[in-house]
Amino acid sequence: MKSNQHATNGTRGIKRIDLAYVELASSENARDINRDIVLEIIRSQQPVARADLARSSGLQPSTISAIVEQLIAEKWVAEGAMARRPRGRPSTLLSLNDAMVILVADVRPNQAIVALVDLNGRFLAREAVPLVSEPARSVTKIVHSMESMRAAHSDRSFEGIGISMPGRVDPETQRLLLAPNLKWSDYDIKGAIEEQMQLQVELANAANACLLSELWSGRLDGIRNAVLITVSEGIGGAILANGQIITSRSGLAGEFGHSPIDPTGPVCGCGQRGCWEVFASSTAALRYYAELAPNGRATNIHELLRLTEEGDETAIAAVTRQATQLGRGLRLVTASLSPEVVLITGDLTTSWARFGPIIQKEMAATMLAGVPPELGITKDGELSRLRGAAAVVLQRHSGYHTSTHLAASGKRSRRNAPASQ
Ligand SMILES: [Zn+2]
Repeated sequence: MKSNQHATNGTRGIKRIDLAYVELASSENARDINRDIVLEIIRSQQPVARADLARSSGLQPSTISAIVEQLIAEKWVAEGAMARRPRGRPSTLLSLNDAMVILVADVRPNQAIVALVDLNGRFLAREAVPLVSEPARSVTKIVHSMESMRAAHSDRSFEGIGISMPGRVDPETQRLLLAPNLKWSDYDIKGAIEEQMQLQVELANAANACLLSELWSGRLDGIRNAVLITVSEGIGGAILANGQIITSRSGLAGEFGHSPIDPTGPVCGCGQRGCWEVFASSTAALRYYAELAPNGRATNIHELLRLTEEGDETAIAAVTRQATQLGRGLRLVTASLSPEVVLITGDLTTSWARFGPIIQKEMAATMLAGVPPELGITKDGELSRLRGAAAVVLQRHSGYHTSTHLAASGKRSRRNAPASQ
């Protein structure tokens, strides 16, 4: 991420600098901040007139004009209808440019979901692509899917490609550093896709992509400390601390899934024994089920969760064990980061009414002190990784620092509070 050291209040026009992250002011920083503020107000208030941008941001009309002209020239923003105003001349309304689109993919160990998203997060196309163990062949399949989407929407302007990965991506080299559940070590995914598609590719960790998507949707408005946990083949984590997404050295922060829980436990994909994810992932739930019902019907997590919905006692017992381990392991999160909100995303959330309370109870029982964080789930599960991958492209290409603005926007509306169901 280019620079997200600035905590600013985008919607109120008051620049609130977080002293923990303040850096020496330069005119370039000021320009970036103003541009971010303008883009965020357009995004949240669109369609919006220039005069209202000036009022909302507190910036001079001449500054607004210059920034808007630049955003239009770069195709981030489009002019729309003329609006009559109570006072003054009619003015042209500004919106994010729907014609600009981003290709995205959510890569999992067995399949990728490839999609086309516009700047407002709307999906224009979506397709599941089965993957194979060999990375080059898998990437070719992803590229074929992207090429057909590009051909079908040739009237659009393609800004780039965002890919959510089940692993950690080195922020400097954009190479996969760690992906225990995806055996693609040392393969240059970014380079291979860029060469074939001739578009810039941004790779992002799946949990960070989901967290960015939640910030993007406004769901974490006013929240400065949150942790998002992805529960699928493994367990991933993303951290919002003091209003910043924390990736830290080599982009490796948030790997709670590989914290050791039991040194005598099963071997994990990372090579160690007894990591949290071998007890609390979807893979763990399937293992519990196989132990309880050696000839059971469920062969994947979706079938297992469906059986729990049908009231299958063995399936419920297996997923209850997983949920219990998930809740207990959240002590790693609450004790180390003390977040206001913990968001869970992934397979288990489809049966949240049954298993959410188990996780909540275990997490509450293991608090060191104080009240437990609010526990919720991401609203659109699978889609949030895709939206997050698009947000990563938007953030890196526009210089737009989503997390900072949305996380720092001071107020928290009830409407946007994470749902407990
Ligand atoms: Zn591990």
